[in-house]
Amino acid sequence: MNKIERSPLPSTVAQQPADTSSPLLRFLDELHRNYAGETGGALADYIPELSKANPDHFGISLVSIDGHTYEVGDTQVPFTIQSISKAFVFALALDLVGPEVVEGKIGVEPSGEAFNAIRLNAQNRPFNAMVNAGAIACSGIIHEAKGEEAFETIRQAMSRFAGRDLDVDEAVFQSERATGDRNRAIGYLLKSSSVIGTDVSAVLDVYFRQCSILVNAHDIAVMGATLGNRGVNPITGEQVVAPYAVARALSVMTSSGMYDYAGEWIYRVGLPAKSGVGGGIVATFPSQFGLGTFSPLLDSHGNSTRGIKVCETLSDHFNLHMLNRTSNIQSCLFADYDLSKSSSRRSRRPDEAEILAERSDKVRVLELFGALAFTEVDYVTRKLAEGPAPHFMIVDFRRTSGITGAATKLMMDAFKTLSGRGVTVIVTAVDRKAAAFAEFRAAMKDSTFVRSFPLLDEAIEWSEDQIVYRYGGAVDFSQTVPLGEQALLKELTPEELSLVSALGETRNFDNGAHIIAAGETSDSLYFLLRGLVSVKLPTGVRLATLTSGMVFGELALLEPRRSADVFADTPIVCHVIPLAALHQFCGGNPKIETKIMLNLSRLLSARLIRANKKVDLLSAN
Ligand code: GLU
Repeated sequence: MNKIERSPLPSTVAQQPADTSSPLLRFLDELHRNYAGETGGALADYIPELSKANPDHFGISLVSIDGHTYEVGDTQVPFTIQSISKAFVFALALDLVGPEVVEGKIGVEPSGEAFNAIRLNAQNRPFNAMVNAGAIACSGIIHEAKGEEAFETIRQAMSRFAGRDLDVDEAVFQSERATGDRNRAIGYLLKSSSVIGTDVSAVLDVYFRQCSILVNAHDIAVMGATLGNRGVNPITGEQVVAPYAVARALSVMTSSGMYDYAGEWIYRVGLPAKSGVGGGIVATFPSQFGLGTFSPLLDSHGNSTRGIKVCETLSDHFNLHMLNRTSNIQSCLFADYDLSKSSSRRSRRPDEAEILAERSDKVRVLELFGALAFTEVDYVTRKLAEGPAPHFMIVDFRRTSGITGAATKLMMDAFKTLSGRGVTVIVTAVDRKAAAFAEFRAAMKDSTFVRSFPLLDEAIEWSEDQIVYRYGGAVDFSQTVPLGEQALLKELTPEELSLVSALGETRNFDNGAHIIAAGETSDSLYFLLRGLVSVKLPTGVRLATLTSGMVFGELALLEPRRSADVFADTPIVCHVIPLAALHQFCGGNPKIETKIMLNLSRLLSARLIRANKKVDLLSAN
């Protein structure tokens, strides 16, 4: 669920420290209090309607890429998006008609000129899409593609970026249209240079309208977070534009998003951003958050004075400059082990267990963690190449949040090499819908050398079965194992065995039968003669799968209540001995009781040793 944390600070007035809960909200609240009193700057007035803004309005909103919102002050006050629209319409144009067309018409170099300069570059193209010439060219591209639907296409795209339906401020639109001769001049210059191929006044109307779209600080924070989330709106989950379009829009925001302050901004704040003369600033920390500020007083560059202060202080205090990063790539390897450390939850008969124990290094498991990008996966590929080649290499993705295209390429290449060395490569938990796995899923589809299992445990069990087969063991579920081979009844003489056997009866259960239910009174022991059962926790987690020759329900000897469920995975045959009969019998046969209890201790001790190894494996990382 997406949450909104709102500071109780009353709008426009600096007050007592607000009673807020999270550290980030407290910090934003403090910024708001510190800068609300700053009254430097002036309202934009070259579009007459903008001069009617309330200079006291001041809002800050931050939206994380997991969709959590922090807001302080006037975050719900609407204002016109103005030049902030340029970044999003540029992303939309790239998404809509592709980079060749867009890049053929608009450059990506900083202009070093005023945003509304009536000038093109040496190739008669706008310098970039963040200055008016480039933005009008962008609106032209969309007009060419969509005709009369151009503005509606833009409005709907912006609405998807914001996660709500956005409207237009008609008064601001009319005001700019009536006074926008400079932009008109740019429009005709673009037409004469063949950058605009359609009706200039229609294109300018699209441009003026897109600048007059009403947003609030929260909207632009969500829009910024959508850019920071590779185009997926973190609140609605919608992929608004393709990731490459986002990356290119963010690039131009980085070099040219803040008017003539762009160089200074990226040097100091270090985040791609875009501001508008309506008083908004949107900043994005890729893969982390979007920030939206609103305060209509502008400095000499046309940037919101309070907004700039908020961004500079926030970045400085938390060291958020995007070029000042490091990460521990090795933490992407959560665990690296073979069967000697952790096997599947299938209980093995002694002969199988022996085969597997001797070849525990033939199955190797790498459990990965977190977001897998280029360098993380490079590290994983180095690990995959280490040591003698196993028969089975299992790579588990259940704790990962995604894998990039670059990382996918490295990973697939490493898998191919392993497969060429005779290793069976298996991946687990990759069939997830998340867009963050899209490239990996596509690569998997094309690959013939990687097997995929939904669950890690299943993959380990399958690999164990292959080892057992390969080394002469037989995994035969239809085989019947006599009572005398039960570990719990080991060392009983044939006479003792037949006495114990006579206490119970042989019973059949259908496939799927719920043989033991958690919480019930423990009243019998089940010796599995044929078939397969699974022991599961009430949560559905599989604890063990048992085959013929094994006992279940044996904790009845110690515990009055069942702690787990047992289901038949095939039709099964059991010898069922009622607990009451066994107790009564043992009363008169203490030597047999001692043997059984000693056998039980051995079974439990083996289980404990396995569990301890797992604990060790999990806590080592
Ligand atoms: N619509 C405004 C113009 O073209 C946008 C200016 C801006 O926000 O930079 O003049």
